[in-house]
Amino acid sequence: MALGEFELIERCFRQRSALPDSVIAGIGDDCALLQVPVDSQLAVSMDTLVAGVHFPADASPALIGERALRVNLSDLAAAGAEPLWFTLGLTLPKSDAGWLDEFATGLLRVADQYGIALVGGDTTRGPLAITIQVHGAVPRGGGLLRSRARAGDRIYVTGPLGDGAAALALLQGAPVREPAQREYLLGRYYQPVPQIQAGLHLRQLANAAIDVSDGLLADLGHICRQSGVGARVQLSQLPASSSVLANFDRQQVRQFALSGGDDYQLCFTVAEENVPRLQQLLQRGEMTATAIGEITAAMGLVCVDGDKEVVPGASGFQHFASDD
Ligand code: ADP
Ligand code: MG
Repeated sequence: MALGEFELIERCFRQRSALPDSVIAGIGDDCALLQVPVDSQLAVSMDTLVAGVHFPADASPALIGERALRVNLSDLAAAGAEPLWFTLGLTLPKSDAGWLDEFATGLLRVADQYGIALVGGDTTRGPLAITIQVHGAVPRGGGLLRSRARAGDRIYVTGPLGDGAAALALLQGAPVREPAQREYLLGRYYQPVPQIQAGLHLRQLANAAIDVSDGLLADLGHICRQSGVGARVQLSQLPASSSVLANFDRQQVRQFALSGGDDYQLCFTVAEENVPRLQQLLQRGEMTATAIGEITAAMGLVCVDGDKEVVPGASGFQHFASDD
């Protein structure tokens, strides 16, 4: 990296809040040196966002920065991890101080909000792409996994599904019925809320968890496969925002929820005996969740629509779209 560029990075990426004591060395040294909390395990995850694939290339740099970190934090949430540090791999088509400044502002706003420190990275020339690796901590043996769902568990999601895919449809030119709702939906796409607090609560409660990034069917499908179980989902229970319902018909909203992605809610399973503790948390307003079905001993994912069973196949959902 050229000297001028390093100074640019140093200037742009200096976090407003002081670095935590756990950072012995951060940006500017050969390696970041980090103190892992005692009796903890590291939770590590990485996501790459490529311009034109994961966000429109002409999107606001601040929003790109926000989204990049938020989707990575969502993986920490799904593991029940407390956010600690992240590194940033930045591929830029050209040196553009204005773009970098705005990008860093959005990114660091989220970093400060969630108490995660930027401790290093790499900067290269090429088509615009952003890679973030997040590090978090879970108590030894206490991390949430996809593989521990058990038959009889109830299945929940932490919030509405379908907003992310609806926003993407709007970005790709779908007509807007309720312009007032457009901003909300785009906000859900660019500024998804990583469910960190829910993840921390669920460490004590859930058998399995995943964040919904690829649509409920795909992501709940991962829990089922990795746990050796099946699931039965009540389509009428799927929570949807009033904004998505104002802009798209019910069938379209279901399709967004089931196969759209980009929602970053947590989908988790809870054994019957832990349901009362979950309900207490919900009543106290410490987290939000909606029950959507149950884990079954029989493998495979079955959706129930009223009293009709529909088994979503590899070809997608057309067959239950036509049922309705
Ligand atoms: P090296 O040649 O040792 O790999 P670099 O010149 O790539 O070092 O980076 C110098 C310092 O700046 C390192 O501490 C690195 O972590 C940091 N850095 C480089 N790019 C970024 C970035 N995009 N975000 C955060 N820190 C970065
Ligand atoms: Mg380097």
